[in-house]
Amino acid sequence: MSPFAGEGRAEVTDPGGLISVDRWRELILGDLPALDAIELRIQDALGLVLAEPVESDEAVPSFANSAMDGYAVRVDDVAGAGVDDPVELRIAGEVRAGASELTAVGPGSAVAIMTGAPLPPGAEAVVPVESTSAGASGRIRIHRAARKGDHVRGVGEDVSPGQQLLPAGHRIRPADVGLLAAIGRSRVHVRPAPRVVILSTGDELVPLEQRPEPGRIRDANGPMLGALVRQAGGLPYSAGIVRDDRKAMMYAFDSNLGHADLLIATGGVSAGAYDHVQEVIGKLGKVRAEKVAVKPGMPQVYGRIGTTPVFGLPGNPVSSFVSFELFVRPAIRALQGRADVARPQVTARLTRAVSAPAHKRTFVRVRLKREAGRWTAEPGSSQGSHVLTSLVRADGLADIPEEVTSLAVGDEVTVHLLVDT
Ligand code: AMP
Ligand code: MG
Repeated sequence: MSPFAGEGRAEVTDPGGLISVDRWRELILGDLPALDAIELRIQDALGLVLAEPVESDEAVPSFANSAMDGYAVRVDDVAGAGVDDPVELRIAGEVRAGASELTAVGPGSAVAIMTGAPLPPGAEAVVPVESTSAGASGRIRIHRAARKGDHVRGVGEDVSPGQQLLPAGHRIRPADVGLLAAIGRSRVHVRPAPRVVILSTGDELVPLEQRPEPGRIRDANGPMLGALVRQAGGLPYSAGIVRDDRKAMMYAFDSNLGHADLLIATGGVSAGAYDHVQEVIGKLGKVRAEKVAVKPGMPQVYGRIGTTPVFGLPGNPVSSFVSFELFVRPAIRALQGRADVARPQVTARLTRAVSAPAHKRTFVRVRLKREAGRWTAEPGSSQGSHVLTSLVRADGLADIPEEVTSLAVGDEVTVHLLVDT
């Protein structure tokens, strides 16, 4: 269903009414199909989601080969062998890994063989070198009987032809890259990492290389969101700072769409006289602005300019961060076709009481500890939405439901983990 008015079923929110976090996210995700697949070398596909199932055309191993350094033998020849009662065989030759010309194993003979070398014709098993000793010149003593197939890697033991190895939707891990190489798949169709353009809006902002004049501040959101985008699996592009000016914003949005799968702007989404983001997105495309029942991060803007989804997040750094976590990170994952859209969660017990506003879902910065097999969550002492150090000290966001206004020491909370996944 479209999040935009006039498309699909109309949604009634009373003026000034709040929309829930889950509803807002659902509207946005409903508007974001996964990106079209591209073909990449397997070396470049780590962490990306397969857009096709992978089958093998080939067997792995494709030929029978030795699992050990030792001697390739016929089972009947070594049937009576024991530790103190060896059988002596003539060494007919040697097969190394990679060999193509193979000496056959005939009655009464053995062929020295290395790990990975093809099993020579006539051989039925391999006796490891540890179970042999030197015999008379050109002969080897075998101190162990063998069953057919001992220490032999059979054809197709790992992969059989036509076997489905990886389903579409699977996220590629290092072991998958190894398997793809082994079966001769050099390229795969995957969903690309979304290109995410980040724009910081505000007359007060200066780039971080610059010393701010009185009344101005450095752009903290731009670099922070770049890091968040990267952590979410996207490719961040900085579009720098744009002034609180409709024309400048219009140009900044418009000129950055060509290379963006997603655009994020921070600042300028509140009700202030210079908050133009909603209006500018609306002029260029479609937009929806909502007050979301959340703290921090109540004012939220989502739109589409052409085909590009656009987020407008509130400018306070902690509000930007939490909004990213709740809405943008899932969007970036959805564009990648990923199933793990949400952060992992744990249940933890509070070490300090917290209070929260009524009718708003509150995300409290907490520090987690493992004590006696349980998680505890210590809320940071300052929860102001401008206080970045409280976020730096936190490793999770405790999720306080809308209807809860106070929690005591020892109460359980769900904590979203701010970890790399
Ligand atoms: P706004 O959402 O534009 O009303 O901004 C809210 C607060 O966040 C103000 O104190 C801004 O100065 C601050 N702010 C906005 N953008 C940034 C940014 N990129 N980096 C750091 N602080 C910002
Ligand atoms: Mg502003």
